[in-house]
Amino acid sequence: MNATNFEIPAIDATRLPGLLRSMPKAELHMHIEGSLEPEMIFRLAERNGVKLAYASVEALREAYAFTDLQSFLDIYYAGASVLLTQQDFYDMARAYLDRAVADNVVRAEMFFDPQTHTERGVAMATVIEGLHRACVDAEREQGISAALILCFLRHLPEEAALQTLEDALPFRDRFIGVGLDSSEVGHPPEKFARVFARARDLGLHLVAHAGEEGPPAYIWSALDVLGVERIDHGVQAVHDPDLMDRLARDRIALTVCPLSNEKLCVFPTLADHNIQRLLDAGLAATVNSDDPAYFGGYMNTNFTRLFEQVPGLTAQHAYQLAFNSIEASFAAVADKQRWQVQLRECFERA
Ligand SMILES: [Zn+2]
Repeated sequence: MNATNFEIPAIDATRLPGLLRSMPKAELHMHIEGSLEPEMIFRLAERNGVKLAYASVEALREAYAFTDLQSFLDIYYAGASVLLTQQDFYDMARAYLDRAVADNVVRAEMFFDPQTHTERGVAMATVIEGLHRACVDAEREQGISAALILCFLRHLPEEAALQTLEDALPFRDRFIGVGLDSSEVGHPPEKFARVFARARDLGLHLVAHAGEEGPPAYIWSALDVLGVERIDHGVQAVHDPDLMDRLARDRIALTVCPLSNEKLCVFPTLADHNIQRLLDAGLAATVNSDDPAYFGGYMNTNFTRLFEQVPGLTAQHAYQLAFNSIEASFAAVADKQRWQVQLRECFERA
């Protein structure tokens, strides 16, 4: 099925927000540690006897005024320090999946950062088993399809990533792929060529953050050196026409995160976001929440605020974004086809 085959019926602009909320969609770019709300950070800190540098939930929330990626990462790692037991990881993931179900997310592929936890002495088994159990229970009880992608922290050496992958192999059936996140500039994808080659040999899916703050060259090397199937962010691609052609031709999905881009000042304002340009150039852009607790919203808030702020976005763009997300997910083909039928019915009913 091709999205362009489906000319969606004329839809009144006043009905667009409701449609954005109700349409089935996949979330392909969210860091589960970035779903820790201040209330849960305090609850887990109390449960585990961890002392926080913030006096209250309000004081912590006030610290969420970021100027760039690094200022966010400093607080993000402090928040993750409350996660110690399998139950903590389970509770965090169930809370996110509840929010995803409420936003009509039918498929969630969640990033997790084992190094953030193993460096603090938390066992790999604790992290992966807690998250995996949450995926299984949410699927059984709420019908959402959920999977895990293990991310390497790119500010650390490749040797540490190689060791992390080896340590995770006893749980190989618990995650579907690997990714690359954390501080982008100064840590180009090619730094991780060996660990991505190893992951490919293991039959894992490959994705990487590239072109959030970093240059188009990082997107090229993510594609050609690492061999990734999707680019996380990728909004800097617009500065390179040849790269735009390549991404469109190969239907390489970009997992774009509008509210994150706004909060981390990748664009001056949300109204300046280039997602319409990406879509109109034929790229498989998608909308995602990145670190929803820190950036001001989950999936549907990303969609509704984006469509409020960017003047040219229409119902056809909404359909395309949801279609792209399902197409680019690593779910089974039969599931993807079922969700695409549901998506089409949702627009036909509108
Ligand atoms: Zn991210």
